[in-house]
Amino acid sequence: MIQRAEVIVIGAGGLGAATAFYLVKRGARDVVLLDKYDIGSQTSPRAAGMVSCVRKSELMIELIKLAAEKIERFTQETGQPLDWIRSGSLKVARRAPDIAVIEDDIVRGRRLGLDVERISPEEAHRLNPFLEPEGVAAVMRVGDDMYFDPAQVAVGFARGAQAGGATLLPHTAVTRVVIERGAVKGVETSRGAIHGPIVVDAAGAWTRQIAEASGVRIPLVPTAQQLFVTGPVPGASADLPMVRIMDAAVYVRPCDGGFLWGVYEEDPRFFDMGSLGESFQIKDMPLDAAVLWRYADDVKRQMPVLSTASVREHRGGIPTMTADGQHVVGPIPAARGFFFASGCNVAGLSISPALGDALAAWILEGAPPIDLTPLAVTRFAAGSWSEAQLRERARWQYRHFYGSV
Ligand SMILES: Cc1cc2nc3c(=O)[nH]c(=O)nc-3n(C[C@H](O)[C@H](O)[C@H](O)COP(=O)(O)OP(=O)(O)OC[C@H]3O[C@@H](n4cnc5c(N)ncnc54)[C@H](O)[C@@H]3O)c2cc1C
Repeated sequence: MIQRAEVIVIGAGGLGAATAFYLVKRGARDVVLLDKYDIGSQTSPRAAGMVSCVRKSELMIELIKLAAEKIERFTQETGQPLDWIRSGSLKVARRAPDIAVIEDDIVRGRRLGLDVERISPEEAHRLNPFLEPEGVAAVMRVGDDMYFDPAQVAVGFARGAQAGGATLLPHTAVTRVVIERGAVKGVETSRGAIHGPIVVDAAGAWTRQIAEASGVRIPLVPTAQQLFVTGPVPGASADLPMVRIMDAAVYVRPCDGGFLWGVYEEDPRFFDMGSLGESFQIKDMPLDAAVLWRYADDVKRQMPVLSTASVREHRGGIPTMTADGQHVVGPIPAARGFFFASGCNVAGLSISPALGDALAAWILEGAPPIDLTPLAVTRFAAGSWSEAQLRERARWQYRHFYGSV
């Protein structure tokens, strides 16, 4: 096995694989991308694959716009396939307070050049006949939104990195990041040590565990997220706009002649990855169909098809939530050469092309091309939350993903 590398990336999910790809693209010579399991096999392929361009902050809108451009050029850039469709989306408010959120979204989105407008419930029904106007108070149409095949992203970036000279090491578990006198010296793995001055912890649900094995606390909460893919539904064409119902926090998009849909439920399930055992994989995560059926019922006046369509697939994964709903990207001052790409807040796959590129620039050039201070690990320094407080904040961020008040 390779014994030395310029940059060692732990975790070949969307975030780690994108970082490895852009490191190579930006000229890094010895990049190693290692994963405990198969490349791109854990949470990333189980995502919904939706790109949501209207975000709560201007930074996130800038990043997701960049990411959307990179998704469109994915095959050109990586040489790997990626199926995507710019379907647009409809964000639906059912309650008066959420109308103000939509109005703010439109002002912020327009300021940053997005194709957003308020449309009537009837117009929304015309654009997507599966969305019934009953009980709908306001709708925002977002022309920029798109969706893609989530299973292709991490694998595509990893293969692209490999074609550019990176070494892929699947089935290689990192047991510890070695830090001596305040600087990274490499990693210990199940297959021996790899020496190197820079390590990126992009281990998804396990990010925190890897950091803690080296005495570094990153306040992330691994959180379950699950979805249904329905059987075929007549009329469910691939270009129908996606639907997001704000207060219910339900999302729907076309998928293989039917729909894919999920929810940010009120009481998500949290995990302590350390307690699940060494051999736990994301496919072992227990799923709970009752949660989805409860929310299908909640939105049945607007999206009756969710209650009536058959279910072809039920899948889920474990994204990581933070206390403020922002990603965790960049270096930690306590250990020179130790970088993070995690805290995805259930939106890390779509933004991985932009964050991976920014982090690669940060590592190689000393600064990211965009100011990523709001995503810095150091922002948590002042927060000394108990685990219970951290989970409560994470729960709020999860449930309010669409900005519902
Ligand atoms: C149901 C669902 C719907 C979602 N919908 C969307 C969406 O529409 N849009 C969106 O952008 N995002 C969505 N997400 C979130 C998205 O899936 C995540 O943000 C993203 O996949 C996170 O990627 P990752 O690289 O951090 O994690 P992962 O894909 O889990 O990758 C982490 C990797 O690290 C490896 N690893 C862990 N420990 C070690 C170790 N000790 N040594 C070596 N390797 C290790 C793992 O094996 C794994 O392969 C959704 C998620 C789910 C579950």
